[in-house]
Amino acid sequence: MNQPVEPMDGGLYAARQKIYPRDIDGRFQRLRTIAAWVLLGIFYVIPWIPWGQRQAVLFDLPARKFHIFALTLWPQDFYFLTWLLVIAALSLFFFTALAGRVFCGFACPQTVWTETFLWMERLVEGSRSQQMKLAKAPWTASKVLRKGGKQLLWITFALWTGFTFVGYFTPIAELAGKVAGFSTGPWETFWVLFYGGATYVNAGFMREQVCKYMCPYARFQSAMFDSDTLVITYDDRRGEPRGARKKGTDPKTKGLGDCVDCTMCVQVCPTGIDIRKGLQYECIACAACIDACDEVMDKVGYPKGLIRYDTQNGIDGKPKHVLRPRTIVYATLLVGLTIGFVYTLTHRNFVGVDVLRDRNALYRERPDGLIENVYNVKILNKDGDAHEFRVTATGLPGLAIEYAGPTVWVGSGDVQGVPVRIRVPRKELAGGADIEVTIEASDRPDLKASGKARFIAPTD
Ligand code: SF4
Ligand code: SF4
Repeated sequence: MNQPVEPMDGGLYAARQKIYPRDIDGRFQRLRTIAAWVLLGIFYVIPWIPWGQRQAVLFDLPARKFHIFALTLWPQDFYFLTWLLVIAALSLFFFTALAGRVFCGFACPQTVWTETFLWMERLVEGSRSQQMKLAKAPWTASKVLRKGGKQLLWITFALWTGFTFVGYFTPIAELAGKVAGFSTGPWETFWVLFYGGATYVNAGFMREQVCKYMCPYARFQSAMFDSDTLVITYDDRRGEPRGARKKGTDPKTKGLGDCVDCTMCVQVCPTGIDIRKGLQYECIACAACIDACDEVMDKVGYPKGLIRYDTQNGIDGKPKHVLRPRTIVYATLLVGLTIGFVYTLTHRNFVGVDVLRDRNALYRERPDGLIENVYNVKILNKDGDAHEFRVTATGLPGLAIEYAGPTVWVGSGDVQGVPVRIRVPRKELAGGADIEVTIEASDRPDLKASGKARFIAPTD
């Protein structure tokens, strides 16, 4: 059984005792396995999906283009990332208020990768009791072989994870060729080893300590809990007083509750806690203890659900509320932000224009009576294709424009500066006025953007 560890004599900190979670089968474990397969599948497969001439998801840092299937984002679009992070944070708040730490138990990368490493450990070293026996056994050839085999599996999987991670930033097929030929660049090598090393250490060794000591979410999640939040809980009114009994005994005749004190719920817990002591911040809501206890209840012939998903109100026999002010506020914000995000993303402009005044001269008075201002018009083309752009200006009567036209070629993802001269008859203005400069792709009238600038003229 996983025991709480006390500090050694005179020490301030308790040494970590390795946890050997018992393997368990049950409805929630099956759900977690499906979630792990889906999430790992998404992570490892996505970089290999082709999309035209490139891979479907590629964060091309040197070209400053971020491809996500048909979508290409530029550094100027980075506010979408901020927006997405706000949506992700709100989703976390919403689901935490509704269902507690469901993300931690089923979808957190730390949980998913730890589960995978545990699976490999069981594959090589056997069940929980076999692993514990092996840990205490002297170093024989068989032990070296088993421990070495496990490390080999872990390191291979961790390096594959590091390789896949880098494959999101550099074309993965090329990277695979470089890895096979031992010719990766210094940064690629560094990131494969760094990310692979982090996976190996976090999922192989640190495991529950990441959740207990490093994850900030574990610390503040209780602030989002209320009496109607779904948590994994032990029904102590039904379970206590706990105690062993013979099969078929009516617990009431012995003055006992339904808990047979088999400690199975503790043995399966990946963080080594005893849920019977109440809700603890170490609990990642993986529901393994529910599966374990349900199995025990089945065996002794008691109803399932001694440990179950429930709310504090449910346990106390009070009415439960799914809809309450905080869930309504989170849901409303979430829906509003998501609709806004999708609309803005699908209606964003693929071209942009910046109109900068020439700093060398405010204006020039020409012998033909025209006042001339010079601007540097920067055309940004965020479309996937190159385009020819026309430049026009409006805002003053008699305005004329001159630039190296009639069109300016701008490559995909490029910014092209164009010197533009704008002339206005002197009699039309005194002091100055605002003008608007517009750029428009000659082959795609929908690719259009405008920018304002000040036209300066003499005051008299
Ligand atoms: S107490 Fe239960 S739900 Fe919480 S981490 Fe342990 S096994 Fe998972
Ligand atoms: S698994 Fe159920 S019966 Fe066994 S100790 Fe835990 S709560 Fe009690």
